[in-house]
Amino acid sequence: MIYDVVILGAGPAGLAAGLYASRARLKTLILEKEKAGGQIATTDEVANYPGSIENATGPSLIERMVEQVDEFGAERKIDTVKEVQLEGETKVVKGEKEEYKAKTVVIATGAIPRPIGCPGEADLVGRGVSYCATCDAAFFEDMEVYVVGGGDTAVEEGMYLSKFARKVTIIHRRDELRAAKSIQEKAFANEKMAFMWDSVVTEIKGDGIVESMIVENVKTGEKTEIVADEDDGTFGIFPFIGFVPATEIFEGIVNMEGGYILTDEDMKTNVPGVFAAGDVRVKSLRQVVTATADGAIAAVQAGKYIDELEGTTYAGDK
Ligand code: NAP
Repeated sequence: MIYDVVILGAGPAGLAAGLYASRARLKTLILEKEKAGGQIATTDEVANYPGSIENATGPSLIERMVEQVDEFGAERKIDTVKEVQLEGETKVVKGEKEEYKAKTVVIATGAIPRPIGCPGEADLVGRGVSYCATCDAAFFEDMEVYVVGGGDTAVEEGMYLSKFARKVTIIHRRDELRAAKSIQEKAFANEKMAFMWDSVVTEIKGDGIVESMIVENVKTGEKTEIVADEDDGTFGIFPFIGFVPATEIFEGIVNMEGGYILTDEDMKTNVPGVFAAGDVRVKSLRQVVTATADGAIAAVQAGKYIDELEGTTYAGDK
């Protein structure tokens, strides 16, 4: 069997593509390696997605998106894609379990924030450790927050966090920031911002919630344990040390920049019939709202591509 659209990834971009493709009566398959959701599935509160209801969580939003694609008949499978052959009219997607054929492919595999990789970090994600200031800053209202990294993202997100937290300390592995000078100037002028130079986080500790962390000075080797204020009971740790796009298997197949996939505004890659949507592509704002918009555009364009290929009528605009 040949699918009209095979979508790789079931985060907001992939699910939106699935919704639009299946509503357009395209034979649609969404592949996900673990479970639907992507980054948003680990976000407690989603307040910045238009129409979010009070107390909406990442998982609840994803649940509703999944229900929608199921309702319109998109097929979903759990399989880890190992290899793709995207040239030609029939695309081949090789999963660990099965091989899939499609007329079009939408790559929505996302990007994950690069973790520090120290002990305790993974266990305390969503319990003090967060990779999204926009999502989680409000949880640290009038508390202490630590940002790890020295690039534009770390400094800008640190400044955003300072609108909520009483103090934001940037922990950076060198003695000068990588961030643009204009961004640095604003941060240095911000009274709530502090800087811990030449330092790396080597361990995060806590029983169900962040309670302390070990910071090592890379020049002296000195280790310091930072313990949560007694009244607060916890503090925030926001690592912003770059992102890792999930694009390894597309290297040399679609055009990329810095590991992210290049598309035009119709989500078309350089390979005919292959589209990319969401965080995986080169773009300026990586949020659920932009991911879903990308997914919708990719699916509509996939329909139009098939239409042109076969001379059929695309049903998606109805
Ligand atoms: P980035 O520029 O790659 O910076 C990553 C930062 O994390 C660097 O300061 C780096 O330290 C540090 N780092 C990397 N690995 C680390 C590790 N294992 N442990 C501790 N620290 C580590 O990433 P980004 O800030 O996310 O920015 C990504 C791109 O988006 C950049 O091109 C940036 O200019 C752009 N961006 C632009 C804006 C804007 O223009 N307003 C905003 C956000 C992002 P070193 O400095 O020592 O390498």
